[in-house]
Amino acid sequence: MAGNRWVGVRMRCWTALVLGLVAGFASKSAIAADCPGRPDALGTSRTLVVDPKAHPLIGTMQYRETLPLDDGEVVLTFDDGPLPKYSSQILDILAAQCVKATFFTVGRQAQANPEGVRKVRDAGHTVATHTMNHPSAMHRLPLERARQEIDNGIASVTAALGDNGAALSPFFRIPGLARNDGIEEYAKSKGLQVWSADFPADDWRNVSSTRVHDLAMQRLAANGKGILLLHDIQPRTVAALPRILHDLKARGYRIVHVVPASAEQPATPTEPQQWLLHPPSENIAISRWPKIPRFAFAETSALAAPQLTESWWNDGAVLGANFDRTKRSARGVPLPREAPWPREIQVAQAGTATLPVPAAGVFEIAEGLRVAMQGMPSSAQHADRVRVAQVEAERPAKPARIAVRNGRRAMAGKPVHPARVAAPANRNTLKRAVHDKKTGRRNSRHQEALLEPAPG
Ligand SMILES: [Zn+2]
Repeated sequence: MAGNRWVGVRMRCWTALVLGLVAGFASKSAIAADCPGRPDALGTSRTLVVDPKAHPLIGTMQYRETLPLDDGEVVLTFDDGPLPKYSSQILDILAAQCVKATFFTVGRQAQANPEGVRKVRDAGHTVATHTMNHPSAMHRLPLERARQEIDNGIASVTAALGDNGAALSPFFRIPGLARNDGIEEYAKSKGLQVWSADFPADDWRNVSSTRVHDLAMQRLAANGKGILLLHDIQPRTVAALPRILHDLKARGYRIVHVVPASAEQPATPTEPQQWLLHPPSENIAISRWPKIPRFAFAETSALAAPQLTESWWNDGAVLGANFDRTKRSARGVPLPREAPWPREIQVAQAGTATLPVPAAGVFEIAEGLRVAMQGMPSSAQHADRVRVAQVEAERPAKPARIAVRNGRRAMAGKPVHPARVAAPANRNTLKRAVHDKKTGRRNSRHQEALLEPAPG
């Protein structure tokens, strides 16, 4: 019995292997059959059916989610057409490689060239919209205008297709990727899926076609997979596309064609993490912090106060070098280590001159001034003291001028005059000055000095 069961398992394994090989062969045959006469074409490896409402914002250039692609899978998107001269060439290049893409068409272009939109549809590509007029700063438009741009774009492309919107996908790209919350909310309310991208190739800039090719391949290599943003109205894109498709094939990348889910075509089954460019795995470090678990404390108890030696800054060096400081501490907590002052800079003196010893009179303070200073109140006349200080800072008081003059005379070896005493600016004088100010009287020299306005 056991032997028979083992044989049965082996048979099932072989059957699965053979079926797998047949399926793989069939899928390769399907690509080859899709591209008659071009067995070496890049082809389209699979069709991905998505539900726009389940994932309303995609493209990691701006959003958390993107298409659920496997490594090495690429979705090509072309914006701003149709423009007959270049869009037709893009369609020819894609057809030659049996590659299916998504075209974000502009309503005004569709009005001018409805045949171009039908060509995109008839070639089997996905037709999507990109507003009516491609405003340069969509995010700054009043919301009502932005809504009109979206609605009119859809209406114009639908009219160009002439099929009541049967072939128009609910995929929408904001011009310049200039998003705002209102635009996204409105698109969501209409059941649209807003497509950003995973990487551009800068083909709208003034760069060479070689640069477009290089950027596309470099950024794809960095991402490993994703939505590539191109423009079918640019000659440099027309020039770069054959080499891009050639290198995609040579480097083993696979093209995925994306279509919206419908009643006849249900969405491809996917897992939520497949919509993240870098799903969390054991091999990829997560970029977001894990959630902090909520601990339930069964009981709480007072913790013991830390010991002196357990504080992080209180190391042996501190205790040894600043023993006295630790002794001076309050409540057993030592004071922090003293900050070392920078060393004093030694300034070399170029030359020294010997000056005569100043006479004792230079340092004399006139008795009247000292009395006046001592007589100043501590708080009652603060405003007046400030004004006195301002006036005196500007013009030295008479005793001070005498002292300066005596100093000069002493330096010159001349006899020093006895100090002449200025009128004391005592409390009564100040009171009188304030009173005079209030009453408008101007009858004292001292008052004139006190009421002189401050300089500046
Ligand atoms: Zn555009």
